[in-house]
Amino acid sequence: MTRRAGIIGYPVAHSLSPVFQRAAFAHAGLDITYEAWETPPAELEIRVHGLRAPDALGANVTIPHKQAVIPFLDELGGLSARIGAVNTIVQRDGRLFGFNTDGPGFIEALRREAGTDPSGKNVLVFGAGGAARGIVFALLEAGAASVSIVNRTLARAESIAREPGGRVTAYAESPPLFGYGIVINATSLGMRGSGNESNSPCDFEGAAPGALAVDIVYTPRSTPFLRAAETRGLQTLGGLPMLIYQGALAFTHWTGIPAPVDVMFEAAERELAVRAAGA
Ligand code: NAP
Repeated sequence: MTRRAGIIGYPVAHSLSPVFQRAAFAHAGLDITYEAWETPPAELEIRVHGLRAPDALGANVTIPHKQAVIPFLDELGGLSARIGAVNTIVQRDGRLFGFNTDGPGFIEALRREAGTDPSGKNVLVFGAGGAARGIVFALLEAGAASVSIVNRTLARAESIAREPGGRVTAYAESPPLFGYGIVINATSLGMRGSGNESNSPCDFEGAAPGALAVDIVYTPRSTPFLRAAETRGLQTLGGLPMLIYQGALAFTHWTGIPAPVDVMFEAAERELAVRAAGA
């Protein structure tokens, strides 16, 4: 029986997930299809219910449904309940299990692509949206010594900081960067189409010389945030690895086997190059 998977979002046509998940399934010789399932909010419940069919493997979930999908699932696994968001659904015997692989995917990207473990480090995160939330919880789980969240809307940063208590501080303006081992852009500043393509949340003045700068924006590949860090001679990591590793963790939840990460990177990079050439 051919199994079905896909990504549920609105809009979802731009998603790279079909490109690299199809490449991964084909490489692993698995008879699994993966589609982009454009789903307006009013159709979310029926879409998720459809995943209970025997031929459904599961789904990824993206904006704007990561929180709204939770009431339609049977169980939450991993960090998803604490994060309060699900980006991966797995169907087993008609039951639906929700996971969050965004935060763990970010940690995996740090470790495998930047050779950096957040354990014991002070981390500064710009942004307090859905992506930042997953990243903060995953950083704490991975043993970060402290996490500082800077957000234009302070209340959003405070609401994340309140939950784990102790190790998280919220700011409306950036504190001095000295003392942070990892600095992350989890805002949409710098993203193509955001209206803020030429902006960065910081210029890295005073950053510790050994700091790692991570931008989770992946279009374009080179952002103002990454360029500012490079100008100061800092190590940098772009947003594509987080995207690939969240997908790789989802692949493993569905199939039970390790994901062919290199194949997924190649497929995504090829597609991004095609899109950049056409932009
Ligand atoms: P979101 O929930 O809409 O949050 C957006 C964040 O950006 C908020 O903190 C917002 O601040 C801030 N922001 C937006 N415009 C700003 C401005 N002009 N000045 C200062 N701050 C601004 O979005 P999200 O889902 O967290 O995604 C954030 C970015 O991460 C997007 O670019 C997305 O593409 C990227 N992302 C990448 C991955 C990956 O796998 N690499 C995964 C998820 C998301 P306020 O709270 O003040 O509005």
